[in-house]
Amino acid sequence: MIRDHFRIMVVDLGTGGGAPQILEGRNAVAGGSGLAAMLFEQYGLPGRPWDDPEQPLIFTIGPLTGYYPLMSKTVCAFKSPYHDQYAESHAGGRSALSLRFADFDGLVIRGKAPRPSCLSIGSRHLELKDVHFLWGMDLFKTGKMLRRMYKGAGHRSIWRIGPAGENRSAMACINVDTYRHFGRLGSGAVMGAKNLKGIVVLGDGSFALPEGKDYPKLFAEVHRKMTDTDMMEKYHNYGTPINMAILNGIRALPIRNLQKTTDPDMEGISGETFARDTLLRNAACAGCPVGCIHLGFVRERFMGENRYLYRQVSYDHEPIFAAGAMLHVTNAFSVLTLLDAVEREGLDIMSAGVALAWATEALEKGILSTRETLVPLRFGDARSYQEAVHHLGAGTNDFYRLLAQGTMRAARHHGGEDFACVLGQEMAGYATGEVFFTSQALGLRHSHLDAGGYSYDQKDQEPDVHGAVHFLVQDECARVLLTSMVSCLFARGVYGEQVLADCLRAVGYRELAEQTGTVARSVQKLRWRMRLGTGFDPRSVSIPKRFLEVETWRGRIDAGYLAAIQDAYANAILTIARDEDTPDQPSQ
Ligand code: SF4
Repeated sequence: MIRDHFRIMVVDLGTGGGAPQILEGRNAVAGGSGLAAMLFEQYGLPGRPWDDPEQPLIFTIGPLTGYYPLMSKTVCAFKSPYHDQYAESHAGGRSALSLRFADFDGLVIRGKAPRPSCLSIGSRHLELKDVHFLWGMDLFKTGKMLRRMYKGAGHRSIWRIGPAGENRSAMACINVDTYRHFGRLGSGAVMGAKNLKGIVVLGDGSFALPEGKDYPKLFAEVHRKMTDTDMMEKYHNYGTPINMAILNGIRALPIRNLQKTTDPDMEGISGETFARDTLLRNAACAGCPVGCIHLGFVRERFMGENRYLYRQVSYDHEPIFAAGAMLHVTNAFSVLTLLDAVEREGLDIMSAGVALAWATEALEKGILSTRETLVPLRFGDARSYQEAVHHLGAGTNDFYRLLAQGTMRAARHHGGEDFACVLGQEMAGYATGEVFFTSQALGLRHSHLDAGGYSYDQKDQEPDVHGAVHFLVQDECARVLLTSMVSCLFARGVYGEQVLADCLRAVGYRELAEQTGTVARSVQKLRWRMRLGTGFDPRSVSIPKRFLEVETWRGRIDAGYLAAIQDAYANAILTIARDEDTPDQPSQ
């Protein structure tokens, strides 16, 4: 049954206890991103460090989770080890549906377990189990053990960390159901700092679907749009790796630590090549008819015998960019092998790939030596990167421990800041131009998903600072509404504001449906208030020199245009956070 309040499970790892709590505010923040920010406002400790045991680790779903296709994501919010500020990361898999079936809109984890532990929750279940024997275990073995320990009746979702999380790497991710991740800004380290190796959500309850004709009719309509349109074609067939060839073709693919933006060798790691040579099957998040998850395979010799083990490895544009193009590894199977190695450590591949690309160039330039890198890193040499990934996850020496805290931190210490490809965090796989660079560098999550700056750059138009910033602010606001529901952003072409309002109305959220515009704007402000309240100053962001040297289809980056957008967007963010109305805000 629809309810206008939130039901949140709040767990204290120190005692192992917890209880569901009722929270008002559904019509103000909807859920997802909005609920996560609201919970951080309530439980977060802005003045204390990210690894203070009392800092919360928050997971939230939205009002439409479980009711419509592609409402499949969970929002994770935390104080990040990367910058010690408020952060958000999103993942799919079975995570959201499990929370829905467990009858929770959110999970707040506080405190620190006395011993390495695994937390399991369900609709009538809460347990903190001692799993000290899993500590130090890689992500694959951990997954195997947790699946055995928590038998999978119903909608079970397993979230786990690898050695990188245990070692508090700012690049540590939380793996979700093997092929999805809370990837960026170090949520895995937050679990590690809490002595939490795994979280298992047992979706062991049920929920009723709305009665009447409106809901099934709308569901069918939304489902048809998801599957009949070019969305299916775009995301199911080749998936996001199709972007590799497109970006390479328009000179907008970051290659070899962003020393170039196009290269004929990229043919070896194009989406078409992956699909032709490596693709085993597609997979999907729970409740998604699109199935954009592409699984390729790697094989390895079984204990030195003449037999082979085959492992399935998920790939997407971003992982291929980071483990392929940035490192100039141009063989699809080598990229998959590298992705497999990164997964084993529980690292975020985008951060790890970009960090190793910087380390390779620093080694070439003599800023680093093999005393630091331990392996002779060379662009194109997948084997050396496989070894380096292990050192990065394990924190083998001072250099890797520092690099694991962020490429720029290592560059500040050793030199080479000019060519550290960092836009708030290690860059995403687009070198489209000034608007994208600004969007990622200043965006709330430092993510390519904060706003579509990469698509704005690809429009053939004259530089327009006001137009670009207006676009970034509006697009962020529209995406915030989606991430408060919490929809997969691939569905943004279907879930416009009107469709979302109709969906809300059809399941009974009538008041919320009437004010989606107001909710989106207030969540946008709330999130920025959390970010600024934990120390972010958008005026202090600097974009490394390497980004000014980039050449795209439009020619060389325009440094003046980039600086002007940065300045104007920083002011727009401050205006949003101050709770003032701004002409850049979309109208209701
Ligand atoms: S389109 Fe892909 S990421 Fe989005 S919900 Fe479906 S399977 Fe998950």
